[in-house]
Amino acid sequence: MDHFELRNGELHAEDVSLAAIARDVGTPVYVYSRATLTRHAKVFREALSALPKVHIAFAVKSNPNLAVLRLLASQGYGADVVSEGEMNRALAAGIPAEDVVFSGVGKTHAELTAAVRAGIGQFNLESEEEGVELAEIAASLGKTATCALRVNPNVDAKTHAKISTGKAENKFGVAYDLAADIYERLSALPGLHMRGLAVHIGSQISDLEPSRQAFGKMGVLMAAIRERGLSVTHMDLGGGLGVPYKAGEQLPTPADYGAMVAEATKGWDVTLMFEPGRVITGNSGVLVTEVVRVKQGVGHPWVVVDAAMNDLARPAMYDAWHDFAAVKPTGETMVANIVGPICESSDTFAMAREIDAVKAGDLAAFRTAGAYGATMANTYNSRALVPEVMVDGDRWAVVANRIEPAAILAAEQVPEWLD
Ligand SMILES: *Cc1c(COP(=O)(O)O)cnc(C)c1O
Repeated sequence: MDHFELRNGELHAEDVSLAAIARDVGTPVYVYSRATLTRHAKVFREALSALPKVHIAFAVKSNPNLAVLRLLASQGYGADVVSEGEMNRALAAGIPAEDVVFSGVGKTHAELTAAVRAGIGQFNLESEEEGVELAEIAASLGKTATCALRVNPNVDAKTHAKISTGKAENKFGVAYDLAADIYERLSALPGLHMRGLAVHIGSQISDLEPSRQAFGKMGVLMAAIRERGLSVTHMDLGGGLGVPYKAGEQLPTPADYGAMVAEATKGWDVTLMFEPGRVITGNSGVLVTEVVRVKQGVGHPWVVVDAAMNDLARPAMYDAWHDFAAVKPTGETMVANIVGPICESSDTFAMAREIDAVKAGDLAAFRTAGAYGATMANTYNSRALVPEVMVDGDRWAVVANRIEPAAILAAEQVPEWLD
């Protein structure tokens, strides 16, 4: 459920017309709905309410906008971060350091040091090597780093290959069969407090069985580690729950997920940690774009929009589907290819799609663009970095400025020896 609806024949975000935002800010522009974000945060928490002890850390990479983080902080969400930059965003948004989980396979020495200094709540170690390095850093600073060991359960999440993270051939975590030994060795290091295990098998998960299987394996591993006399008080089950991208598509709900988790983790006696990203932010945002022109094709017409793969990379990267809706639909439809202006063929949003009929100058929105949208934007083809807006009832604000190509050009220089 979201708050992007037609009112008087015009697509609105809550009480604000997308056309009004486009007129003031220009296009392309991301628009987030505060009510939708809040609702998703509550629904996800509610879905876990039957579990004894829960910590939710929002996956910042899905939407790191400062205003989004502030809103989630006010909902009691912690943060799952994967770089020092994300850590600093989470802290700047007011998320307490102890509620931050630092994930990622390539945390640098500098990042680990900064995170220990900041008092980050949990490091999800992705290798024994990282644990040894972190132990030295923490000990040298006279601190103790609280850690979980990320395990690769060798389970196929049955999602797109580029966002599948829990198979043996993926780079993430330590091998399942080695995990207990590594946990034991890391537990002996001064500077580390090993308190649990972490698992995250992928993103846009649409079938709960692989997660159930992975959590089952984690339960077995947890018991084996406890057998060795070591303590496991926290189990981080990651994120990954998918969202519907096509109108009418049925996916497991947060409640289905919560029920599965309750079953899979029965009797664990731990604090369960979660790292949802997409399920919170996905449906909370749209990308508003203007049709540049409609070009005759050999087959279907090409609807060329002013948004491109640099603004919304998911179709080009993951063959992802985003519903496309006219801001002022006429009721007519057309079958068309939707493309951006970038000079490569991967800049394609849809082929042979039945859509609202549009013409040059019309506004349209790519739906479900709140997750892995603006966060993945870049300036390819010397385009602007796309701006972001948040709506709250009948008011709205720019929450990230458009960064013009001129500003990026200004950060470049030609060495004098070139002349
Ligand atoms: C990306 C990521 C998440 C969030 O995934 P979603 O599919 O957006 O829920 C959670 N944890 C880790 C470690 C991740 O890398």
